Amino acid sequence: MTTVNETPAVTRSAAELEELDRRVLLHPHQNGAQHERRTMVRGSGCLVWDARGVELLDVMGGGNWVAQVGHGRTELAEAAARQMGTLEYFTGFDIFANDQSLMLAERLVALAPDGLDRVFFTNGGSEGVETAIKFARLYHHHRGEPDRTWVISRHFAYHGTTYGSGTATGFPGMHQGIGLGLPHVAKVSPAHPYRAPDLAPGRDLTDFLLDELAGTIDQIGAGNIAAMIGEPVMGGAGILIPPADYWPRVRELLARHGILLIADEVVTGFGRTGAWFDSAVRGMRADIAVVAKGLTSGYAPLGAVLVRDEIGETVAGGDAYLFHGHTYSGHATACAVALANLDLVDREQLVGRSATVGEWFGAALAPLGDRPHVGEVRIAGATVGIELVADRGTREPLMAGAVARELRDVHRVVARDYGNTLVMAPPLVISQPQVTRAAEAVAEVISRLGAGGE
Ligand code: PLP
Repeated sequence: MTTVNETPAVTRSAAELEELDRRVLLHPHQNGAQHERRTMVRGSGCLVWDARGVELLDVMGGGNWVAQVGHGRTELAEAAARQMGTLEYFTGFDIFANDQSLMLAERLVALAPDGLDRVFFTNGGSEGVETAIKFARLYHHHRGEPDRTWVISRHFAYHGTTYGSGTATGFPGMHQGIGLGLPHVAKVSPAHPYRAPDLAPGRDLTDFLLDELAGTIDQIGAGNIAAMIGEPVMGGAGILIPPADYWPRVRELLARHGILLIADEVVTGFGRTGAWFDSAVRGMRADIAVVAKGLTSGYAPLGAVLVRDEIGETVAGGDAYLFHGHTYSGHATACAVALANLDLVDREQLVGRSATVGEWFGAALAPLGDRPHVGEVRIAGATVGIELVADRGTREPLMAGAVARELRDVHRVVARDYGNTLVMAPPLVISQPQVTRAAEAVAEVISRLGAGGE
């Protein structure tokens, strides 16, 4: 693997940078009580370095489910430089496009599940989800069903943080103190087999979830519902893998009521959970798919919304005027980087490698299976969720924050805590020894919890 940036262009000391950080920077998802700061300055493969020269093993894809091809890839730096030297940007509004966005759109359509044939570019996931919701409503509006405004999402879904996407997000804390969110958003239960309710004999989790969804549809009235949105595998909720029949049955129920299905593939896409588009292998047959993150491996901010031809035609064809778009929709440099990134994912067969990474983690984490504070280990492609419990009998959640902190500060391994689940989503280029190192560190920290550590 070729990487760049052996000598970071850092001109200030670590202490100066940390002081600067406290003084001027507001971090996304910042915890005001947390005063520790760490300035990252360099990366190569799965390793990253902070301004103090400390090396960390990144098993969280740039800390945020990104970095499919690893850090510091010259191929992507060169693609960006080439494009910036040719045409860095030109608007995509009105009649204009740039060649890179057209070629990327063509590439995405070829990779996407059948039927998703039109592409709209955004700067990231939240904008993608906003766009998907708007398109779903617009589609019904243009077809003479303007009452179809409701969106069904799920508790503990993560769909972004802007007003529309944030309302679809199912973490209650996100909605506090900001006034009203998007009207007409309803939430149903996520497919979480480990926390399934007690069911009557002969009924399984999917039966229960489908009944709940059907009840919600009845209550709102099918003619008032535009779409349902869901992550094929829920990431921020802690790697929740649905039963195999969940999405096909949801799809069928929605189709019966003329409700569109939006697959939020921001995390799952581009090999993260083992397929180019995870929705394709889970039987979602989505009408709209939102991607971001792995599209560029994080080397440039970019997202995309793919829609069925008929939806594209309805919202932007004929005499419709699509009053929606961003200055940087289809940014030429971001699209050139995405094309080069997809080349690497393809050439290095990283989509297939994702499952192998998951198998390495599965084997290396097997000893955790009988630890008293491990409720469940869930693996989907190269994502791992370890749900911690105070007691295996009651399944009372045990928050994972202390584990993630100790991993980072003592073992120098970057994972993340999502409530009571420890999550890993490494670059897909991670080596087996690196997986072993991460898994051993995780096992050590969690085993000490078992010995009364927390
Ligand atoms: N959708 C999912 C499934 C996500 O995990 C995220 C971010 O983590 C988003 C949407 C929002 O994407 P962004 O942070 O790029 O706005």
